[in-house]
Amino acid sequence: MTKFWEEWELKEDGSPAAPIRLGASACLLGEQVRFDGGHKQNKFMLHDLKPYVEWVSVCPEVEMGMSIPRETIRLVGEIDDPELIGPKSGTNYTSGMKSWSSERLSFLANQQLHGFVLKKDSPSCGLFRVRVYNDKGMPTRAGRGLFAKALVDAMPLLPIEEEGRLRDTYLRENFITRIFTLYRWTQLLATDPSPRAVVTFHASLRMLLLAHSPAKAKEMGRWVSQAGNLEWDELATGYHRMMMECLSVRPNRGRQCHVLSRLMGFLKQALTSDEKQELAEVIHDFRNGMVPLLVPLTLLRSHFRRHAVPDWIHEQVYLTPYPKELMLRSSV
Ligand code: SF4
Repeated sequence: MTKFWEEWELKEDGSPAAPIRLGASACLLGEQVRFDGGHKQNKFMLHDLKPYVEWVSVCPEVEMGMSIPRETIRLVGEIDDPELIGPKSGTNYTSGMKSWSSERLSFLANQQLHGFVLKKDSPSCGLFRVRVYNDKGMPTRAGRGLFAKALVDAMPLLPIEEEGRLRDTYLRENFITRIFTLYRWTQLLATDPSPRAVVTFHASLRMLLLAHSPAKAKEMGRWVSQAGNLEWDELATGYHRMMMECLSVRPNRGRQCHVLSRLMGFLKQALTSDEKQELAEVIHDFRNGMVPLLVPLTLLRSHFRRHAVPDWIHEQVYLTPYPKELMLRSSV
């Protein structure tokens, strides 16, 4: 069984020794930076993720020079290229926000971020369905906050989510899988940047990638098979891109069952017919939404501990993609 997350190191003060670094809208971290002087502290971010994450706090509106408290602002005009306006004062904040975002993102590009959590609905931070008002003052929920747009444009492979969407257990599980896998990748780049290490890393991701997208997993397999012939930068950049694209595809129950059945296949000789039937039944129950993913996985892991299977099975990130304490697979 992979020990990667079981060996998670903590410093004496309880903070992680080698942290996952996530950017976040400052108000979600409990900072009183909102237009009314309040915050929108997020429990999952500050409590559940606390042992693993170092937060990089960003408040676009305050950092670009707006006061606390301040007038409310909104997006106005074209959905794809709106202006950021303070309706009360008539101030246009668009160019100020764009030039501040560009400068801040140049700095953040060197911060080795593994993800970003943004505040929903904000004309600065909102990622999806932000209100954009037309010239008659009518809103359409189809815009993106100006900082959020600049962030996505500057870091298209970074896992980025809204705090509101993280209440959806499937989106949350996918986001956490992406940030922990990206973290493992950046650890590889920092400690052993070699084609051999990429081949080993890819082998450990095999089942996880298959659960997300068999087509993209196949493409990655072809890429890694050329590892020895590619320049390092080309190999690493291409692998990083393909990995993040593959993991962005949400696994469905059918693909998860395909992977679970493949893993079960390695126990064919070892299990009794009763044990095989029990495992097949829980996979079937998971397919029908009667039990969460945790149930067949727990049974599989238990069999892998007790029976001889190839070493690479024990190394599969799919079995433990992030610390079990996050308890995300009990609800997907
Ligand atoms: S949503 Fe963004 S801009 Fe608004 S208070 Fe929070 S961090 Fe600041």
